[in-house]
Amino acid sequence: MVSYKELGLVNTREMFAKAIKGGYAIPAFNFNNMEQLQAIIKASAETKSPVILQVSKGARNYANQTLLRYMAQGAVEYAKELGWEHPQICLHLDHGDSFELCKSCVDFGFSSVMIDASSLPYEENIALTKKVVDYAHQYDVTVEAELGVLAGVEDEVSSAVSHYTKPEEVVDFATRTGCDSLAISIGTSHGAYKFTPEQCTRDPKTGRLVPPPLAFDVLDAVMEKLPGFPIVLHGSSSVPQEYVDMINQYGGKLPDAVGIPEEQLRKAAKSAVCKINIDSDSRLAFTAAVRKVFAEKPAEFDPRKYCGPARDLMTELYKHKIINVLGSDGKAE
Ligand SMILES: [Zn+2]
Repeated sequence: MVSYKELGLVNTREMFAKAIKGGYAIPAFNFNNMEQLQAIIKASAETKSPVILQVSKGARNYANQTLLRYMAQGAVEYAKELGWEHPQICLHLDHGDSFELCKSCVDFGFSSVMIDASSLPYEENIALTKKVVDYAHQYDVTVEAELGVLAGVEDEVSSAVSHYTKPEEVVDFATRTGCDSLAISIGTSHGAYKFTPEQCTRDPKTGRLVPPPLAFDVLDAVMEKLPGFPIVLHGSSSVPQEYVDMINQYGGKLPDAVGIPEEQLRKAAKSAVCKINIDSDSRLAFTAAVRKVFAEKPAEFDPRKYCGPARDLMTELYKHKIINVLGSDGKAE
C-alpha cells in the first residue's frame, strides 16, 4: 500500500471546490509516455495551473502501472525543479471499469479514480460506484462516477450512440453513491471523430464541418438539481484544424475529423464543470509534429529529433488550453 500523499500528489477535492468558486476548470490530460508527461508538467508549471494526470486502462497496459506511478512521482519533483513551489498534481484513473482495478490504483498511489459503470443498469451503476467510493474514501482518494453514455471511441471505451444524462437521476445517484464528482453526457464524445458529417453543418466560407452545439440545457438542469457539485466533461478535445491539416499535408489521412469548439468549452468551464478531459488533441499534436519531421527530413533517425518537436508542440497546446480555454492559470502558485 502506497499513499499518494507520500508521493506529493493531491486528490481533487480542494481543486474542484476552488474551481467551481472561481469559475474555471481543471485540465485533465491523459498521458502514456515521457514526452507527453514532460509537456504537461512544463505547461502546468509555467502557468501555475493545477493539473490532473490521467491514466486510462489502455495506458496502463501500454506503459505499465508501476512505471506510470513512478513517472507521476517524478513529475512532482520535476515541477519543483521548474520553479513551481507547490505543485498541485493529481494522478487519476480514467474509466476504471471494475472494483478490482480501482482498488489496485488506490493501493498503488493514485489520488483519484473514476469508476465508469455508466453502461450498466442504473441500480448496478449505483452499487458498483458506492463500493468503490467506500473503499477509496478510507484512504482519502476521490472518486469520479458517470451517468449517461458518451458516444465515440477511447481506448477500450466505446459506444455508437450517446444518451444524455437524465437530470432527474443525479440527486439520487450522488446521494446514494457518495461520489465526489460526476461525469455527465451532454453531447461531448470520445476520439477525433466526434460527429459524423451528417450530424454537422458546413461553414459556407471555409467548407469545414460545424458540430452540433452541446446540450447546455441538460447541464443547467443538472446544476440546478445539484448546486455546487463538481461536474466533469469527457471527450472534450477540440480537434484543432491546424493539426489535422498538418497531418494531412504530411502524408496522413484524417478526413472530416471534428471536435468540440473551444468557445463551448470556455462557457462550460465557467459553470460547475470543473474538470475537462483532453486526450485526442495531444495525440494529434504529437502526430502532426512527427509527420512534419519525417516529411521534411527523411534522413532523420534520432527519435529525439522528432519526439522533441512533438513535445514542444504539445507543451504549446497544453498552455493554450490552460490559459485560453479552461482559465486555470495562476490558480496553484
Ligand atoms: Zn472519457
